[in-house]
Amino acid sequence: MHYRPNILLIYTGGTIGMVKDFTTGALKAFNFKKLLNRIPELRHLDCNIETVSFDHPIDSSNMDPDKWTKIAAIINDNYDIFDGFVVLHGSDTMSYSASALSFMLSGLTKPVIFTGSQLPIGDLRTDAKENLITAIQVAALQKNGKPVIKEVCLYFEYKLYRGNRTTKISAEHFNAFTSPNYPALAESGVYLKVNEDLLHSNNNEQFSVKDKLDAGTVIIKIFPGINKAVLTSIMATPGLKGAVIETYGSGNAPTDEWFVDILKEAIAKGIHIINVTQCSGGSVNMGHYETSTQLKEIGVISGKDITTEAAITKLMWLLGQETPANQFMYAFESSICGELTQ
Ligand code: ASP
Repeated sequence: MHYRPNILLIYTGGTIGMVKDFTTGALKAFNFKKLLNRIPELRHLDCNIETVSFDHPIDSSNMDPDKWTKIAAIINDNYDIFDGFVVLHGSDTMSYSASALSFMLSGLTKPVIFTGSQLPIGDLRTDAKENLITAIQVAALQKNGKPVIKEVCLYFEYKLYRGNRTTKISAEHFNAFTSPNYPALAESGVYLKVNEDLLHSNNNEQFSVKDKLDAGTVIIKIFPGINKAVLTSIMATPGLKGAVIETYGSGNAPTDEWFVDILKEAIAKGIHIINVTQCSGGSVNMGHYETSTQLKEIGVISGKDITTEAAITKLMWLLGQETPANQFMYAFESSICGELTQ
């Protein structure tokens, strides 16, 4: 008999499930289950769909590590019952959440597809229907009775990306995301074309949720004129355990003695410093220019071609897993689930 995969939709909030209050014009959260009943197309999909929703759906600007734990728990509780998961999420922090979950859902063997929309699902010109319908189809894709996708992805505007490779690039275009350093895993046109060679698969690791995160972290963007007092004070923050520094180009930063000394002292105190590029594509390569040689010498960790979103969530996750100090650099510079090119 023909098998219909079981898909769980997890609504966390975001524009996709909001409706316009026609008197004020503002978007507000709505009962997502009721909204889905108004989309007859879903009944034509070749899968069984169930829905759960956050009790209080949020605008994704209010996303935080506790709520990532909540999403991970919903997936864990339903892991054996469902063949795939679609997480409906606001686009603003979707790349952070997809990255965080990619580390937390260890040994994933089923698809977890994040999607959302720029316009509410009830809007005439909405992009939500295509995003939702194709995300469900991707989550339901099976080959020889097994899911095709076994990782955390983000589907938006005809493209399926590895979630931890994405970044939001537009506040208004339907094409709101990009994956600067890794090609799209699938494209949806007349056919849904999956690039199977690009898919991640874990090494027979058992699925488990590793949800401990430590948010004693910061992101610092370098700019010409960066202030010594400000940087000193950030590095002296009580409880700070790691910092992602967005540097120039291939990982370059000022060579001023004070700048290097502040980082050196922080590293000596046990704070992990991660070097990522503020360019929208390409990789950190410390030692390529003189302006990054010292960073390498003092023990700054290379983020290689990781996005800032994946770097900060990987940092929180490695800290949460209590990765020993002497293994931290190796652990960060290695790929856990395809978030960087080794
Ligand atoms: N501010 C909204 C959010 O991120 C935007 C969206 O839903 O895309 O929740």
